[in-house]
Amino acid sequence: MKQKRIAIKIGSNVLTRANGTLDVTRMSALVDQLAFLHKQGFQLVVISSGAVASGRSELNLNKKLDSVEQRQLFSAVGQAKLINRYYELFREHGISVGQVLTTKENFGTRRHYLNQRNCMRVMLENNVIPIVNENDTISVSELMFTDNDELSGMIASMMNVQKLIILSNIDGIYNGSPSDKDSKVIPTISKDDYIDTYIQASKSTFGRGGMLTKTTIARKIAEEGIEVIIANGTKEDILIKLCTQPHSTICTRFIPSNSNVSSVKKWIAHSEGFAKGAIYINENAEKALCGANAVSLLPIGVERIEGDFEKDDIVQIIGHEHTLLGVGKTQLDSEKARNLIGKKGQKPIIHYDYLYLE
Ligand code: GLU
Repeated sequence: MKQKRIAIKIGSNVLTRANGTLDVTRMSALVDQLAFLHKQGFQLVVISSGAVASGRSELNLNKKLDSVEQRQLFSAVGQAKLINRYYELFREHGISVGQVLTTKENFGTRRHYLNQRNCMRVMLENNVIPIVNENDTISVSELMFTDNDELSGMIASMMNVQKLIILSNIDGIYNGSPSDKDSKVIPTISKDDYIDTYIQASKSTFGRGGMLTKTTIARKIAEEGIEVIIANGTKEDILIKLCTQPHSTICTRFIPSNSNVSSVKKWIAHSEGFAKGAIYINENAEKALCGANAVSLLPIGVERIEGDFEKDDIVQIIGHEHTLLGVGKTQLDSEKARNLIGKKGQKPIIHYDYLYLE
């Protein structure tokens, strides 16, 4: 039987105490649960925050640093501390862990993407649990993941997991303000449920994320056929309960769609930020692409091309009213593509298999 693969994202607020120091007791409780699941045969990929927070509590700065310098310094110190703790805690269970540090850019080219995927596959095949975090020491603001929720979504999609569990310090998505005693956790959210009015825009204390990004990511990942759960990582045995008695445990579950999205499409879906150009298409092409049938983008449907790109680069597809329709991997470089604009009977510029529409 195929082993069940789960990605678990542990947020900074789960791992840090109110004063910003690493909560080792909590970490240890989570590691016990992860070890239990690992021994039950689940393949686990852990995405753990906490580097910046644990570095912050380690250092007393006597010089004022800007926010980028602070993040770089704290994460350099804190990540070492964090992974060391994981290593020690898992070792007590006889389980090996490995560190994977990544940046958003590593998801931008197919080659890096596949390298990362292979690395984690080899780890899993050898019973090593990957512990992933953003490499905050070298990622600069404009190219950073919005937060580790975004990173966990990209990892879940890349590793083709069945389930992504996002652990935070609240029970799930509420149908009102979480501080209001009448508010309740929404147990399931499916594609067409409108919930955005309830979502708090406020961010968590130590992490970069908030409920808004969690929900956006969760929806996108569920759309790719992966079940996403948002739950409270500070509750006793939460991971075990979510995996063994999922229906009686408080959490918010995003129902996965049945679609079987190919791995190339998943990569493209998360590569929007790396687009090297834009293809503006006409109304007919837009109707065809957004219709029920799967169609490729042909030169006849193109009105204009912006930017310089190579074959196999990611480009944006812009509709006739200038809205972003999606992204795709081009089969032609920008020069060749421009020469074919409006021409009939040509090969597609973007093949259906390499097209991802919003
Ligand atoms: N990578 C950051 C850290 O380890 C966390 C980012 C986030 O809060 O989502 O501290």
